[in-house]
Amino acid sequence: MSQADTPEMPTSMQAAIMRDQKIVVDDMAVPTPGPGQVLVKTLACGICGSDLHMLRHGPRLSKTAAPGDRIMQGMDFAHDIVMGHEFCAEVLEFGPDCEPPSNKVNVKAGQMVCALPAVFGPGWRRTVGYSNDYSGGYGEYMVLQAALMLPVPDNLTPEMAALTEPMAVGLHAVEMARLERGAVPLVIGCGPVGLAVIAALKGKGVGPIVAADYSQGRRALAVAMGADVVIDPGEQSPYDSWRLSAVLPDAVANDISPPPPPLGPIPERLKPGVIFECVGVPGVIEQVMAGAPTQARIVVVGVCMEADTFQPYQGIIKELNLQFVLGYTPDEFAASLAMIDSGRIDLSPLITGRVGLGGVAQAFNDLADPDQHCKIMVQPALV
Ligand SMILES: [Zn+2]
Repeated sequence: MSQADTPEMPTSMQAAIMRDQKIVVDDMAVPTPGPGQVLVKTLACGICGSDLHMLRHGPRLSKTAAPGDRIMQGMDFAHDIVMGHEFCAEVLEFGPDCEPPSNKVNVKAGQMVCALPAVFGPGWRRTVGYSNDYSGGYGEYMVLQAALMLPVPDNLTPEMAALTEPMAVGLHAVEMARLERGAVPLVIGCGPVGLAVIAALKGKGVGPIVAADYSQGRRALAVAMGADVVIDPGEQSPYDSWRLSAVLPDAVANDISPPPPPLGPIPERLKPGVIFECVGVPGVIEQVMAGAPTQARIVVVGVCMEADTFQPYQGIIKELNLQFVLGYTPDEFAASLAMIDSGRIDLSPLITGRVGLGGVAQAFNDLADPDQHCKIMVQPALV
């Protein structure tokens, strides 16, 4: 192993640990990087809504995990788990077989990096932050996969760079939506996921972007991310609003409207609709299906970890397309960092709080208030 400038590597660290469905701060051993892995020091790590869900629902969900569920397979809730997968870190020490320049990305000790939160070897993969073996960014140190690291440009702060992961989620959702030419997007829910979707849509030049959220604070953030029409669903139907934004010019409407088929849905003579469900609580998919225009694509980005029901008939009569998405590709992750670095959209309003490890448990509670908070950054160096 090669030593960085740090004279001595620490052997013990502090972390905000998920234990017995609570977040507690405790000491634990600093992880050792294996082949292809790198020891890093956490600089900033965003608290993700999925972590809130995991704290609450993880133990139950892990009992019924599907064979292909690589996230749940890495988690035994009877033992400590350190969450945190939206991080920026400083490289300290390389494990075997990945010292620069052989780590492909040519990252050196002392450099600031982001990384896809995964560690893998032949035939296995673990998610950093959703694993008993690979602790995440709510701890002072982590082990990351060298091949999945990206150097962070010098001009970015750690907390801006830590937004790479959640913004990549939005980018992936938009890629998976396979937007048709002229499609008008509707974003339901303007929490961190919905806001990332809006920013990605804006980055692609798609519009007008219609967005809806009950919280005034989040509606303001939706405007800041680039939404064109922002609705309070308590006052106005997001779907009616979407229809107004999706009206076709008469000439086009007359031209493209085919005669109604003998059986099946009658086209609505509107621009193509894509609805991003970014709420992730039971009942929302059904509401979206009820409000959606004919032949819309519904992209489910919100992470609901509870049982939910909907009426398939709603989808049948409109020929709806229901698409679920997860994560992002390495290319989307890199594009997300590049988008942040470009400064095209000022993401700083998304960060509404900063805590040290001792503040993580309270931050999990505080995030329940959408008017107060969007993204809280954990900075282990903060006391
Ligand atoms: Zn996340």
